[in-house]
Amino acid sequence: MKRREFLQTSATAACLGLPARRSVHGQAAADRYDLVVKGGRVIDPSQSLDKIADVAISGGKIAAIAPDIDPKRARRVISVPGSLVTPGLIDIHVHGFQGISHWGVDLDRFCIARGVTTAVDAGTSGADSFEGFRRYVINQAKTQVLAFLNISRIGLIARPGELTDMRMVDADAALEVAMEYADVIVGMKVRCSGSLAGPNEVECARRTRTVAEKIGKPFMMHVGPHEAPLEDLLELMRPGDMMTHSFRDAGGVIGPNGRVDEAIKRAAKRGVRFDIGHGSGGFSFAAMEQALSEGLLPSSISSDIHTYSAMGPVFDLTTTMSKMLHLGLSLDKVIELATIEPARAIKRDDRVGSLKPGRAADIAVLNLVEGKFQLLDSRRQVREASRKFEPVLALRNGKLTPNA
Ligand SMILES: [Zn+2]
Repeated sequence: MKRREFLQTSATAACLGLPARRSVHGQAAADRYDLVVKGGRVIDPSQSLDKIADVAISGGKIAAIAPDIDPKRARRVISVPGSLVTPGLIDIHVHGFQGISHWGVDLDRFCIARGVTTAVDAGTSGADSFEGFRRYVINQAKTQVLAFLNISRIGLIARPGELTDMRMVDADAALEVAMEYADVIVGMKVRCSGSLAGPNEVECARRTRTVAEKIGKPFMMHVGPHEAPLEDLLELMRPGDMMTHSFRDAGGVIGPNGRVDEAIKRAAKRGVRFDIGHGSGGFSFAAMEQALSEGLLPSSISSDIHTYSAMGPVFDLTTTMSKMLHLGLSLDKVIELATIEPARAIKRDDRVGSLKPGRAADIAVLNLVEGKFQLLDSRRQVREASRKFEPVLALRNGKLTPNA
């Protein structure tokens, strides 16, 4: 659908400046909305909402969700019959800092242009580069960009593992920066796998947890084939801390016997979260199918979009969402895991991930198209799906960003 086809400006725009009308209840008609997103199927799991309705926006905030809002009450109407209208998607594992980190992509191109209104950079920058990340990425992007700060001072700037030299793993420096930029740093990040941290995995995770405890925020642990016993790593994770790349073939939730590791089940029971973090190596259909068959669902759907995954197999968050829909999660659950659940993971569920009136008008409009679609996991295994999400547009603070 082209933008032109579904945008129309309300005829009432010409009426601006007329005296306020009175409603039947005798109140001033403070009901002139800036924008109404009209006629879509509104799905907001934070409110257990799934119905055809209009979403009205005023002053950059959600003003109302109701059926058949009179278009004359809006300065502008976006008509989206047949589309899904959801809270702006939240991707808690992305990599920005394009041009500084070899992993970094242009976040607006892959996030807000693809329905993601809030993106959390997963440790691309560390203490020594965060001011640059704030200045050149966070402050410039149309997407709301937040960050997990890498426990390593250098973040993901250089190719050798950032944790192989323990002089870089400076908890004091990380703490200072995490406190200075507390408005945008939502937690800490550590990459625990043998190839990146060698024998330092447990000590790096321990330092990360120490900083996370001091700032009262969670940490995200990247996992892969690890040298340390899984139990030693899980032991450091508190309720609310999250593993990412959880559903990979080796080194994630699936143990050597091909079943969900018992230590993982115990960790899930005490509130450790299991994020997807698809990326170029972090998602396997077989592992996810096994986990689902044993009742272990992901806590959040995230893309791990970066230089080496953006052109496939990841493409964008909605493609990862399509994979979960194909694997049997309900539409409502998929949207929950890409809106209010990641908001909870970063302790921002009072601000994002919901269309409750009064919240910032961060909205995604998606089409769920039918056909035959080949979906790839990180090992390039193929599944043929019959439905796929396609992002149409996103609004952040009520402002329109069409699909790129
Ligand atoms: Zn990553």
